[in-house]
Amino acid sequence: MAEKKRTEISELGEFGLIDRLTSKFTTKHATTLHGVGDDAAVIEAGNGEVLVISTDTLLEGIDFDLTYFPLKHLGYKAVTVAISDILAMNARPEQIMLSLGVSAKLPVEALDDLYEGLHFACEEQGIDLVGGDTSASMTGLTISLTAIGRAKKEAVVYRSGAQLNDLICITGNLGAAYMGLHLLEREKRVLRDVANPEPQFEGYEYLLEKYLKPRARKDVVEQLAEEGIVPTAMIDLSDGLASDMLQICRSSKCGARIYLERIPIAKQTSALAEEMHADPVVAALNGGEDHELLFTVPLAMQEKVMRMGGIDVIGHITAESTGAALVTPDGSDIRLKAQGFKEE
Ligand code: ADP
Ligand code: MG
Repeated sequence: MAEKKRTEISELGEFGLIDRLTSKFTTKHATTLHGVGDDAAVIEAGNGEVLVISTDTLLEGIDFDLTYFPLKHLGYKAVTVAISDILAMNARPEQIMLSLGVSAKLPVEALDDLYEGLHFACEEQGIDLVGGDTSASMTGLTISLTAIGRAKKEAVVYRSGAQLNDLICITGNLGAAYMGLHLLEREKRVLRDVANPEPQFEGYEYLLEKYLKPRARKDVVEQLAEEGIVPTAMIDLSDGLASDMLQICRSSKCGARIYLERIPIAKQTSALAEEMHADPVVAALNGGEDHELLFTVPLAMQEKVMRMGGIDVIGHITAESTGAALVTPDGSDIRLKAQGFKEE
């Protein structure tokens, strides 16, 4: 008997796997305006409005390490992770649902802390917690969040709308969360066998905050609306600039030129990278978890975008045939490659 073919997940990569699993599904309802393939699904809500829905899962040992991740911060960060995808559609997050898998090793007080952080983020961001689910877990703490937002139909921004010559814009700075994680991992290693560990974080508080307690960029979506700017494409930076830029290129069928020296990197990020003999640009390109927004706007919007403040123009959209390139200060082109999944 012929053996059944076995394909390793790594052969397909994350996005190849999602494509393979979902390709047979077609939409049956006219209310499903957009299904798989963007930061969130878009559902008709009537009166010219849509609902925007997205789910994220955080797993102990994969997405967080409880030896250094305070549960209060984890609760806060979970809300940021969930609503970032809603904001990336240029929608306003309104509700979240949270499903928990709890292991017996956690006392109730630990879950109280988790929910204190969650409550704080919900108050700060104006979000209602409207339900969830609770079950036991054999594999550590699991947190699954569904976020729901609302937008005017014509204001929704997809990954697929970038046009030739559009400006590529970025909020905040990149690579800080990744360096924060490296700092925590370093101190964990160094202090493993120390009785009363006192980790050294002086001078790097911003990096820890960006990793442990990142704030969702709701302010950016509000400012875009105030300035009357509807980006042509947008994505939240969760996987690193390289991967997320390539998602826009893939969806918009375009190329991109990003100028390396224009990528915003915070002082603390560069300082720690130097101390750890790492490259801060690599942290920005592949680190991920920045939870900033990457968006494109027509060239004519440049002045308006600059007026917003805290936005950097890092490049422009090119033809699909030229691919996505990173331009180094000496003028040479490096092909942009995403880590974490296989390129086609
Ligand atoms: P993000 O990083 O913005 O959260 P993902 O890269 O996780 O988005 O997902 C890309 C798209 O694929 C989204 O539309 C998401 O809803 C969809 N998706 C991811 N995993 C699955 C799955 N297992 N089944 C169906 N759809 C999925
Ligand atoms: Mg996203």
